[in-house]
Amino acid sequence: MDSIDRRFWRYVRAQWKPLCVALLCSVGVTAITGLTAYLLEQVIRSMDMRDSALLNRVSLTVIAVFGVKWFFSYGQVYYLALAGQRLTARLREDIFAHLQRLPLSFFQSRQVGSIQSVLTNDVPLLQSAVFLVRDVWDAPLRIVAFMVYIFYLNWQLALLAFLFLPMIAALIRRLGRQIHRITHQTQGALAEISAMVQEALSGMRVIKTFAMEDRQIGRFVRQNRQVLNHSLRGERRRARLRPTVEFIGAISIALVLWFGGQQVASGRMTTGQLLSFLFLLHQIAQSASGVGAIQFTWKQVRAAAERIFREVLDMPPEVYDPPNAIDLPAVQGAIRYENVWFRYPASVQYALKGVSFEIQPGEVVALVGHSGAGKSTLVDLLLRFYSPQEGRILLDGYDIQQVRLASLRTQIGLVPQQTVLFVGTVAENIAYSQPDSTMDAVERAARQAHAHEFIDQLPNGYHTLIGDRGVRLSGGESQRVAIARALVRNPKILILDEATSALDPPSEQMIRQVIEEGRGQRTTLIIAHRWSTVQIADRILVLHQGRLVEQGTHAELLQKKGYYAQLYQATQLEVI
Ligand code: ADP
Repeated sequence: MDSIDRRFWRYVRAQWKPLCVALLCSVGVTAITGLTAYLLEQVIRSMDMRDSALLNRVSLTVIAVFGVKWFFSYGQVYYLALAGQRLTARLREDIFAHLQRLPLSFFQSRQVGSIQSVLTNDVPLLQSAVFLVRDVWDAPLRIVAFMVYIFYLNWQLALLAFLFLPMIAALIRRLGRQIHRITHQTQGALAEISAMVQEALSGMRVIKTFAMEDRQIGRFVRQNRQVLNHSLRGERRRARLRPTVEFIGAISIALVLWFGGQQVASGRMTTGQLLSFLFLLHQIAQSASGVGAIQFTWKQVRAAAERIFREVLDMPPEVYDPPNAIDLPAVQGAIRYENVWFRYPASVQYALKGVSFEIQPGEVVALVGHSGAGKSTLVDLLLRFYSPQEGRILLDGYDIQQVRLASLRTQIGLVPQQTVLFVGTVAENIAYSQPDSTMDAVERAARQAHAHEFIDQLPNGYHTLIGDRGVRLSGGESQRVAIARALVRNPKILILDEATSALDPPSEQMIRQVIEEGRGQRTTLIIAHRWSTVQIADRILVLHQGRLVEQGTHAELLQKKGYYAQLYQATQLEVI
């Protein structure tokens, strides 16, 4: 069996206390089961001897012993579950904390669904790791202890009972391997079937054009029959397993009864001993079937642990700050890109190629270009979601690579294209980045974002619940809440990723007003998708395939009759 990630065992070891209690309890349970066999022998003996005093004593002892067993059984189940639950709780916390620290690129390259599946499917699977610890300990303990007991009771009979054991083990192994192979083949054939269905559905036009329906059906039926045959072969093997094992088991029991009966008849063994022997034999068989499950659980736990470590916990966290990073002092909002080259880690093409420009504090600048031109990338670099391979970015003269990330990001307000509202009140949503904001600050931000009027109209004003479970806001309203959220810290730089989907005209008008009113107060950088927004910008940066190809005002650029003019002419519609 391949080993499970070493770091995972650290989580298991951290739960050593409840695990030890559970394992001790299982020793208790085993001891009591052994004792039960002994009591069984005594009951028969008392009956044989017609000794009612002994029978009374034994019966009372049975009650007492099972009373004690109650505690052991309880402890065995509860403390094992406790260890499992604590282990997964700890793991969930670690994974969540790690996810929060991963760079944005992680979430773009991976589907959120697969990360969720790690949390919801793989983590609970690891709970069964504690059962692994138990099974590895418990079943062998029981088997060894009871074997010692039955050899003590009658070693010849014990040898006879285990005569068939190697045969059963070999049989289970062989059938298991065959079943595994057939299952594998069936799955392959099934995959081919679903590929065929998909091909037929998407190629229906071609199939019909060439009148190939019957041939398709014929192909499908052949393949489907093959799956059926494979499956049935597997089912036959599976069905064979249990009766065969049972039959061999029955032969060995019959032998034990036959030989044991003779031993009893000749007085070398008592009836009670024979019964207690059979009882223990049954216990051993039961424990042995538990051993088979170990391999299965082990494989499951190993796969889940591998996914958790490889896909999440091993991902390097966001590179925070260089050792000598300083806090960025409160900035005025001057931005300078110096020959910035940037390539995404997984890509060969540069997304930004030698981009240089300068923005004065208080300027309103629109970024314009086709989709894929590099607008978002340019903005993401300013927020240090990524770092350029070459060149540098300065904020008020400070190289942003040299400052503490938190001191950089808190000075930039970002309004993303898609607004995310969290479950909570309007005020909580606005104060998201600064939960200790006063109501005054929240209201000031809302007024600046032209959101105050509609918030006032809501049933509970600023205390109205929004998000999934609360009042639904329109696209324009949500975006204004998002703007208020970005403005609540009073940032000197506002980045606005304009919504590509149309908002209601009054909302769009109001958002333009927010931009206009901020002019001179804060630097505003807009990823523009509407000509109406572009036109109110002090300056337009035109990007094309990662290069800054032109810059100027709308009028200047039109006059230049260059790329921008072409773009303007080509997109007659309002949206770029
Ligand atoms: P825009 O915002 O102008 O639409 P982007 O900045 O999103 O353009 O993209 C610029 C280029 O970088 C495009 O060629 C795009 O395919 C590529 N790109 C964007 N994001 C990633 C990413 N996470 N990984 C790899 N390539 C990316």
